[in-house]
Amino acid sequence: MKKTLVSACLLGIDCKYSGENNKNEELLEFLKGKDIIPICPEQLGGLKTPRQMAELKSTAKDIVENEGIVITKDNVDVTKEFLKGGYEILKYLKLFDIEKAILKEGSPSCGSNFVYDGSFSSKKIKGQGITAYLLQKEGVKLFSENNFMEA
Ligand code: SF4
Repeated sequence: MKKTLVSACLLGIDCKYSGENNKNEELLEFLKGKDIIPICPEQLGGLKTPRQMAELKSTAKDIVENEGIVITKDNVDVTKEFLKGGYEILKYLKLFDIEKAILKEGSPSCGSNFVYDGSFSSKKIKGQGITAYLLQKEGVKLFSENNFMEA
C-alpha cells in the first residue's frame, strides 16, 4: 500500500520550533484510514524542541549544493542539521512505497510553495524548504495543509 509522509506538527505532535504544534483537524479527518508516516525533519536532524526559529538564507537548491546556509534568529548556522534531517527523511523512500507528502507550508524544512525570506520579518517568498526540495527531487508529489484535498 502506498504511504504518505505527513509533517508531524500538522497531526498535533509538539515538534514545532516553539514547542507547540500546527494541528489541523480537517487534515486529521481527511487522513482517517489512510496509510501515513509522520515526519519531523528538524528533530531528525538533531535539533531540540523548543528551538530557535530558523530561515533559509538562499534557495533550498543552493543550500543542498553547499552554496547557502540556514540560520537561526540568533545567528547560529544550522545548515548541517537541516540537511541531515532532509537526508534522513529520504531514507524512508527506500524503505516504503511513498508517493506523496503533505507538509507544513512555509517551513524552512517542510514548505512546498513558499518559505520566509531569511530576514525574520515574516516576509514570504516563493520557494521550498530543504526536505520538501529533496523529496520533490526524488519524485514525491508535494501537498500542504492548503491543498491536501487534492492529494
Ligand atoms: S520540521 Fe516540518 S514537521 Fe517538524 S515542526 Fe517544522 S514544519 Fe513541522
